[in-house]
Amino acid sequence: MTKTAINICGISYEIKYVEGDYCGANMGKSDFANAKIFINKDLPLDVQDNVLLHEIMHICYRNGYLCKEDDEERVVEVLTNLLYPVLKEMYSCANRQ
Ligand SMILES: [Zn+2]
Repeated sequence: MTKTAINICGISYEIKYVEGDYCGANMGKSDFANAKIFINKDLPLDVQDNVLLHEIMHICYRNGYLCKEDDEERVVEVLTNLLYPVLKEMYSCANRQ
């Protein structure tokens, strides 16, 4: 899977595959203000996909106003509601190929 943008809560986040140094010590990072997700392109493809999901979860965490005091059921419900449209979009893209 190599996507160039993903819609999360109505915002299209550009996915940029960058040199590892750009992400510092991390494998990826999110720029919420500019709607960009950066992924270290030197990683194996499976790892890049894993990092993309990780960054999507960060965006959902922030958009869902989750915090460390939230109980498990709230965290799971918020992430489910925010990720469901993302998964639908990914499946529809995968089925087009
Ligand atoms: Zn993280």
